[in-house]
Amino acid sequence: MRLILLGAPGVGKGTQAQFITEAYGIPQISTGDMLRQAIKDQTPLGLQVKGVMDRGELVPDGVIIDLIKDRILEPDAKDGVMFDGFPRTIPQAEALKDAGIEIDQVIEITVPDDEIIKRLSGRRVHPGSGRTYHVLYHPPKTAGVDDETGEALVQRDDDQEETIRDRLRIYRDQTAPLVAFYKTLTQKTGAQYAMIDGNGTTNEIKAMVQKTLKAL
Ligand code: AMP
Repeated sequence: MRLILLGAPGVGKGTQAQFITEAYGIPQISTGDMLRQAIKDQTPLGLQVKGVMDRGELVPDGVIIDLIKDRILEPDAKDGVMFDGFPRTIPQAEALKDAGIEIDQVIEITVPDDEIIKRLSGRRVHPGSGRTYHVLYHPPKTAGVDDETGEALVQRDDDQEETIRDRLRIYRDQTAPLVAFYKTLTQKTGAQYAMIDGNGTTNEIKAMVQKTLKAL
């Protein structure tokens, strides 16, 4: 099964991706997580992209395409993958198509912008595992620390409110055109395109995602 999760930052793609990975045993390929890891490891790639990411801008297509080309060749990606945060532009989607990667399902999650701002500005992350919390909606057992390890949670630089607004603008300009791209492509190939209203609880959205995956 090859799956793309599409939607603006903060609609809950990462949360649903974690659940799909566990339930269906396919790896999550998150370009955002890969880039954050490169920054943490201070690799040349990490040093190259840090400023762009902190400002909430998009990393150049060529860099992302090279990263994905290597990642999809790894053995765990042989039988299925779930792309989260990729593709984000038409050239990235074209590159995926040209690489012969056939997509079985695209799940688009939608949430109004004001709700996204509330969600992202309250988000806290455990850097070691990628586990996410929210100061109001999904607080850790003890404020500021990860439930499992007791290590400190952090706020991503790009989750500052001004940066979130910039990221939403970039989503509208550069990523939203993928909705039409994948609606057309899935119609042609017989793959599924599902749109899910992400304005509910994690469990409600999970149930909707489960239903669309069963329909495959
Ligand atoms: P995310 O965790 O998916 O919200 O990604 C965080 C940041 O990483 C984005 O704001 C971009 O700067 C960068 N990024 C992640 N994936 C991509 C992509 N497919 N294309 C361009 N930039 C990306």
